Amino acid sequence: MGERQCVSCGKYVEEHLTDCPFCREPLPEIPHLRATLQREGGPLIRRGLLWMLLAAVLYYFAAGYSPLDFPLPFARVLTDYLLPLLFLGGLGQATYGFYHSIMQ
Ligand SMILES: [Zn+2]
Repeated sequence: MGERQCVSCGKYVEEHLTDCPFCREPLPEIPHLRATLQREGGPLIRRGLLWMLLAAVLYYFAAGYSPLDFPLPFARVLTDYLLPLLFLGGLGQATYGFYHSIMQ
């Protein structure tokens, strides 16, 4: 069982109490865990969208859609498997972050 400090008298009281046993002042409610879980969804969504953007930009250049000419050819496995996998991984992470933020 944890303790917290009374905002009126400054003495330490048990965490589950709603009124201070020393000065009888009401104690403010403890913030719930929900607020921290909602904040965790945002970085997941942003990180997932960043992976998707990185995959799209790399695919644009590696697949030959760019007017620029690169001196070295890209491996075909990059455009066929790795960049779509990176894109889908980012999509999954953004979806998980969105699900995480709306379910709490
Ligand atoms: Zn008190």
